Amino acid sequence: MIERLRAHYSIRDERVLRVMREVPRHFFVPEALRERAYGDHALPISGNQTISQPYIVARMTELLELDDRSRVLEIGAGSGYQTAVLARLAAQVYAIERIGELARDAQARIRELNIYNATIKAFDGTLGWEAHAPYDAILTAAGGPDIPQPLLAQLKIGGRLVIPIGSSREAQRLIRVCRTEAGYEQEEHGACVFVPLIGRYGWQT
Ligand code: SAH
Repeated sequence: MIERLRAHYSIRDERVLRVMREVPRHFFVPEALRERAYGDHALPISGNQTISQPYIVARMTELLELDDRSRVLEIGAGSGYQTAVLARLAAQVYAIERIGELARDAQARIRELNIYNATIKAFDGTLGWEAHAPYDAILTAAGGPDIPQPLLAQLKIGGRLVIPIGSSREAQRLIRVCRTEAGYEQEEHGACVFVPLIGRYGWQT
């Protein structure tokens, strides 16, 4: 998996590659699919959701440019795999998952791996998590029609937000927003497919 990320997908951040070598992805995948945990694909998890393809996890993480002082907000924790990767690179991760059962299971897995700098709560992540704002980095692992306004507001000046945005629920483009003194700068990083971001500032159910 790591060689493919490096050679085929041109992931260059060695810290991201090292952490993805260390975090046991099979631990976050349903038992029946464990043999496929390190393959080049997303996999189903419970609640009709998915654990993102390794490439997408690596690319989004790389785009966040984290260091060991970063305070990170994650929306769409799902299995908790991306949360674990973020937690190994950053100071503190606040993760939100809409589906209560997924949030509980993800938090339990994170604890089993002795990761203590990540908290996962169940609520609508399109509202952000005001109590811990502002954030150095925000990652959204579900695709919405627009960038939720609260996420822009909760981003630090100098911070980065990575989110898939698309005018339909089926396909998106990966967007990175960097907040500067002057405002927000937006870049595109290719086509992608995520499950829908459902909430007040996302798709309605
Ligand atoms: N990074 C996760 C991806 C999970 S799929 C992993 O690798 O396992 C995206 C997740 O976003 C789903 O679990 C879905 O329930 C969640 N989601 C969708 N809309 C949301 C919202 N408004 N707030 C929080 N989570 C949301």
